[in-house]
Amino acid sequence: MPRLSRSSGGDFLRESTFETTVSAARNGSYDLASVRKALRDSLDSLEPLLPAIARPGHRVLVKVNLGCSGSRSPAHRLTTHPAVAQAIIEALLDCGARVSFGDDVSRAGQYCEAVYKATGMAEVADRTGATLIDFVATGAREIPSGLLFPSSYLVTNAYFESDVVVNAANCRSGPVIVGMSAAIKNMFGCVVGRRKQHIHDLFGSDQRQFARAIADIHQAIPADISFLDMTTVLEGFGVTPAVQPVGLLLAGTDPVALDTVAAHSIGYERLPMWTTFYGHRQGIGCNDMDRIRIRGIEWSTFEKLHLRYPLIEGPARELPRARATRILNNTMFRQRPVIDAGQCGGCGECADRCPVKCISAGPGSVCKIDLGRCVDCLCCTKVCETGAVHLEVVGAGRAFRRLIDYAATI
Ligand code: SF4
Ligand code: SF4
Repeated sequence: MPRLSRSSGGDFLRESTFETTVSAARNGSYDLASVRKALRDSLDSLEPLLPAIARPGHRVLVKVNLGCSGSRSPAHRLTTHPAVAQAIIEALLDCGARVSFGDDVSRAGQYCEAVYKATGMAEVADRTGATLIDFVATGAREIPSGLLFPSSYLVTNAYFESDVVVNAANCRSGPVIVGMSAAIKNMFGCVVGRRKQHIHDLFGSDQRQFARAIADIHQAIPADISFLDMTTVLEGFGVTPAVQPVGLLLAGTDPVALDTVAAHSIGYERLPMWTTFYGHRQGIGCNDMDRIRIRGIEWSTFEKLHLRYPLIEGPARELPRARATRILNNTMFRQRPVIDAGQCGGCGECADRCPVKCISAGPGSVCKIDLGRCVDCLCCTKVCETGAVHLEVVGAGRAFRRLIDYAATI
């Protein structure tokens, strides 16, 4: 099945002006039997059916969410639940596909195993035989964005080396900057290392522009099918968080429609959902409930919740000069990784970890970074145990800053 791409987006937009479909199933618990049944139910009403997407021998990547900070227990509901991941993987294996799954866990340095264990994914790999993939270890490559800035995204090769990509998302209200994190945002995790934080930093508290970038990423690296687990949803970022039972599992090839249905199921339809707004506008899918056909359950009788809204910050008032400074500090004058020869023990861990292999051994085995090829993911800083990799402004940026400092003294 051809993956929807920038070039095919226009065709899809025309299709989505008619109708799009979301497959829904009820699910009340994370008991594996219950999740398996809900998944089967959702697959029964999926269009097209799963075997038409994942064929025998296909290399399928399941993009799970392993959280963005620390090792999280599934009970926190910040990560894809292992029962959901397992049921999806089993269904793909039944199609004869070769399945791998993973997320960017660059924050853990070389200690990814701790994240896999805490999130329950190590057990899923043991039970299913699917391969857990470290998105940094596979290497990464730059792809152009559809925006002025950031002009590119650093995406794991795990995405490009698969025939089919399955988006296995969970749902939570918040974080602050997007209002609701669900199917569209889950693909953001294919961006490697600190490049994700870099996108946050570029837009500050401007949730609209940040959401536009999130939708742009999904358009650049679409998934072939998305699952959105709403068995339970973490409610309230910035208010007292609580895990709320919603009782839904959604599936479909249109992530914008999935997120739109999700928002309606938790009473968020009046919140500004900029990810679905831009997802619709960019031709990724449909955010118009009147044009979304929900199959599998009787939507009119489904008991929708009204979860508390997350604390959403409006864009901070930022003077043009401050905005320009923030953007320059995150682009032209950004800090770059530099290895302190005096502290480097030459262990080579950073070179092994670098996803674009731009670190090599220099004189005396001290490692050196080729900044011309470095993509600023900062994965090297996470593995150096001697603290030899530090950040500094280099080259023209440093000269410019010195000039400004000098000008301030006269
Ligand atoms: S990880 Fe640190 S100590 Fe090891 S080679 Fe790299 S910079 Fe040197
Ligand atoms: S040198 Fe460090 S920051 Fe640059 S690409 Fe390699 S790992 Fe990433």
